[in-house]
Amino acid sequence: MKRYNDLNPPPRTIMTPGPVEVDPRVLRAMSMPILGQFDPAFTALMNETMEMLRELFQTENRWSYPVDGTSRSGLEAALLGLIEPGDKVLVPIYGRFGHLLVEIAERCGAQVVTLETEWGGVFDPEQVISAIKRECPALVAIVHGETSTGQLQPLKEIGRACRELGVLLVVDAVATIGGVPVDTDAWMLDAVVGGTQKCLSVPSGMAPLTYNERAEAKLLRRKRVERGLRTEHVPSRFRPIQSNYLDLSQLQDYWSPERLNHHTEATSMLYALREGLRIALDEGLEARFARHKQNGEALAAGLEAMGLTLFGSRTSKLPVVACIEIPEGVDGEAVRFMLLTRFGIEIASSFGPLKGRIWRIGTMGYSCSEKNVLHVLGALEAALIHQGGRVQAGDAVQAALVVFDRRGAELC
Ligand SMILES: *Cc1c(COP(=O)(O)O)cnc(C)c1O
Repeated sequence: MKRYNDLNPPPRTIMTPGPVEVDPRVLRAMSMPILGQFDPAFTALMNETMEMLRELFQTENRWSYPVDGTSRSGLEAALLGLIEPGDKVLVPIYGRFGHLLVEIAERCGAQVVTLETEWGGVFDPEQVISAIKRECPALVAIVHGETSTGQLQPLKEIGRACRELGVLLVVDAVATIGGVPVDTDAWMLDAVVGGTQKCLSVPSGMAPLTYNERAEAKLLRRKRVERGLRTEHVPSRFRPIQSNYLDLSQLQDYWSPERLNHHTEATSMLYALREGLRIALDEGLEARFARHKQNGEALAAGLEAMGLTLFGSRTSKLPVVACIEIPEGVDGEAVRFMLLTRFGIEIASSFGPLKGRIWRIGTMGYSCSEKNVLHVLGALEAALIHQGGRVQAGDAVQAALVVFDRRGAELC
């Protein structure tokens, strides 16, 4: 007698800001045979992945590789390596993930100063720049696409100011990489952390990142190789990086021709990332950004035609997340539950002050398609009516179709 059933997850249309649906080609890549982590067949795949990541991050940085662990591990690795205990760190906060950067920086021993703006908007770059001039931090950490509020922070001016003032700039581009332009070199970003389970449409479990020579210099002066691996030892007067697992100064040696032994690389995840990157670069970054923009616009047009109100500033809207105010008298969780159980569609709620106030619908990666946008609009309309909400019935899908048709006309 069988004690447990076969693994048989229900098929879902995932319209959240991550994790999202995964291209079947990526799932197939994950079932390929395991290779040893020093096998030349595997290290060749590692090198290719680094090359692809440089393209994705739009950078010439030598160091562009994934950290094993979810996106948060990449953020922690970057901050642990670049913040020495006692360093002053400035974090501008405009949503939940800004608070996460503060939380991590504090645990790195930073003296954290924050700048806050109301959730639903972003900073005028000048606000951040004058705070940098006033506070003189060693490092600024900021979120590019804030999924909790659906907002996109412009980074170019902040990047230039940090470079001129000799401040390191670390960016959380977890939600934007592969869906919205992230121009690492042109914007002068010193370290950028991406995510796999959002616009790249790879399962969660790796955090691709990149950093330049300015960042590397700070890591290297804190470098300490494990005693069991050392051939020589040059003691450093700087504090070693507090984490062993997330020590970028050692990890980069594993990703260099030296192949210093660190943890065992997550073989199947690397296959997945490589395949996800290959698919993204094959589509072309510009085409991919245009697809995300168009689906985001069609979704927003449909939601508004239904009579719903989008939350947050429209000028700084993150193209890959729509935040919707839950209408008065509607039970937001009952609508979400109905969408999931009756229509097989998942949308998200939000966090902290926005919990119970907004829904969030993501249009990311493989989930970001005309089919999914039309399905979610039709289903949301039906679920809202069923739950007693008042909507402009019949208009949402039509409004989205108009946006998709316009694109078709542009291509002719
Ligand atoms: C999803 C997300 C994260 C956290 O990613 P995990 O993979 O869950 O660790 C961090 N920052 C932003 C902006 C995100 O959207």
